[in-house]
Amino acid sequence: MTLPVTPATATPPTNPRLDAVPAYKQGRSAPAGASKLSSNESPHPPLPSVVSAISDRLGSIHRYPQMAAPEIIGRLAERYGVDPDLVTVGAGSVELASQLIHAVAGEGDEVMFAWRSFEAYPSLVRIAGATPVMVPLDEEHRHDLDGMLAAITERTRLVFVCNPNNPTGTVVGAAELERFVAAVPRDVLVVIDEAYVHFDGSPYFADAPAATDPERGAGLELFRRYPHVAVLHTFSKAYGLAGLRIGYAIAPAAIADAQRKVAVPFGVTDLAQAAAVASLDAQEELAARIAEVTAQRDRLRDVLLESGWPAVPSQANFVWVPAGERAAELDRILHAGGVVARTFPGEGVRISAGSAEDTHRVAAALAAVHPTAAVREEATA
Ligand SMILES: *Cc1c(COP(=O)(O)O)cnc(C)c1O
Repeated sequence: MTLPVTPATATPPTNPRLDAVPAYKQGRSAPAGASKLSSNESPHPPLPSVVSAISDRLGSIHRYPQMAAPEIIGRLAERYGVDPDLVTVGAGSVELASQLIHAVAGEGDEVMFAWRSFEAYPSLVRIAGATPVMVPLDEEHRHDLDGMLAAITERTRLVFVCNPNNPTGTVVGAAELERFVAAVPRDVLVVIDEAYVHFDGSPYFADAPAATDPERGAGLELFRRYPHVAVLHTFSKAYGLAGLRIGYAIAPAAIADAQRKVAVPFGVTDLAQAAAVASLDAQEELAARIAEVTAQRDRLRDVLLESGWPAVPSQANFVWVPAGERAAELDRILHAGGVVARTFPGEGVRISAGSAEDTHRVAAALAAVHPTAAVREEATA
């Protein structure tokens, strides 16, 4: 005998806080053979040394991972010259962003960030019961730091600065960022999300030892100088480990302790930890790959400009096309040419930098339909 299906009215009520939370939308998947340029992933397959580090551990996946992640945390602490207690790892830096919010904010608190920025921020903030405060980017698609300072209230607990910003690829310079951090009250945590720092050719603090290590970015130096700064880095983008889920935060001791309390236990697998360590051992190979991606990024922007589309100069591994009302049109053109990008209707399209072949495909798609023709049609319609 089969039991009757339970009527929907009998299900327990869900947390009303979730009503305002949109489900996270993954960058569209691409049909076989298409260029998937929708999630800022690396176009390169995993390094052989990374594959081998993972393979070595496959025989022990019946065991839980080491929750304290001693090897990768030790390596990162050494690299950045910080106490290992200040370093935390998570299942991607998105998990760490969530931990940081939960560590400092709850019901009635505000968490601020620029908009448009990383799509996960508004949901993560709402899930924590806090209120997102979104400060529009300026006309050049950059953070409006003065506007953000002016929007700080006594309820503000955390401010994200996504640098370079996703999806616009713009950066806040080191000196500008320091002025901002210095002006933010010390009881507000400034989280500098540097998911794309590896692609950023901007100069950092010239006088800091960090200047020689691009991955230190401005964030690490500000962490050193100020007590209310945390930094987020990820292995997902430049390092090509998006599928394994590992990122890290460097935060003040009390904040890092709170993060460890709110973390879901065993979130970072041993495979991910091993792959991250192997990646730190492959800096030169990774640097060469990063250089290839940034070259494609710059070509991608040229291709867009040559076809009459606007394209913002980018310091990340993607290009923002502020197409406005023509975003859907560009999405269709790319799609027809076998390119899947990330489209925000009415705002713009973010196209990830991929391989030379991917860039070529974008160029061919744009050349097939020249936008100025479409615009002319619209004007005469
Ligand atoms: C991709 C991304 C992340 C995190 O990615 P993970 O895979 O969770 O490490 C964090 N911040 C920004 C701005 C991103 O674009």
